[in-house]
Amino acid sequence: MKEEIYHWYKNIRQHLSGERYSPHKPLTIIYALTKLLKGERWIEYNKDREELEYFISRYTNFKSKPNCLNPLWRLSKDNSGNAIWISNPSNLTEDKSSNVLASEARETNFKAGFSDDAYSYLSMNRAVAQKLVEHIIDDNFPPTLMEDILDDLSFGDIIPSFSDIEKDTLLKRDPDFPHRIRSLYDFKCSFCGFKIYYHRNPLPPEAAHIKWKARGGECIENNGLSLCPTHHYTFDKGLWSLNDNLEIIMSDNVIIDQSNDYFFTPFLGKEITRFLLNKKYAPSELNIDWHRKNIFK
Ligand SMILES: [Zn+2]
Repeated sequence: MKEEIYHWYKNIRQHLSGERYSPHKPLTIIYALTKLLKGERWIEYNKDREELEYFISRYTNFKSKPNCLNPLWRLSKDNSGNAIWISNPSNLTEDKSSNVLASEARETNFKAGFSDDAYSYLSMNRAVAQKLVEHIIDDNFPPTLMEDILDDLSFGDIIPSFSDIEKDTLLKRDPDFPHRIRSLYDFKCSFCGFKIYYHRNPLPPEAAHIKWKARGGECIENNGLSLCPTHHYTFDKGLWSLNDNLEIIMSDNVIIDQSNDYFFTPFLGKEITRFLLNKKYAPSELNIDWHRKNIFK
């Protein structure tokens, strides 16, 4: 059963328009697994819609509010062989683009979730369900957001040792990439220039992937930025990005108390390459463009 579930997950059709990706289905599965670990069988459209859509909106930057009905419905279309995901009722009316009507879902008390077999297997093998959550997050998001996603779902209550998960995940990444990126920027945060020595050694800043590794971003110089933890986290969250001149831009959704801001305002409009030792390794247009389209809010 474990292999069947992973096979189903691996083959779910992700909605892609150009380089833009939509993590609605993976987030919906994570949500369902969290419910399962809390002993809840179904995602009910009428009851859970608001919470699930809020959860999805936290990790997408689409202009419109996310619609959770489509992933709930369409995941059952991704079954091959034994059903892993089912919906009830299973015969909603689809339009030409396979969208279903919210009104029909409301009237029929539409619900969806794991099939009986998958549900009972995962409930009895909680470690497998927990691992699957970890796997799906790792597969779709950078490690900086692992904790956020688990926190959003009060996952700490279900898996007290989630920090071990994070450690595991970090080990799987290219071990050379961080060092190459940090040295390129002279061990400074490329955003703010922060560099600190301890016992004469610089404490390493973090190496961020501009195009997320989980979305196929490469571990190469023009996809990396050396960043202090604050600027790394806020970059992965989409609070700031770069324009075509590689200058720092801030999302319109960010409100800062400027009278006490030493972290962001002083650096807006500055070139991210001003500390870069070899300009031929500047971030590539393609990767920046991906970050602006997919992550920047
Ligand atoms: Zn910084």
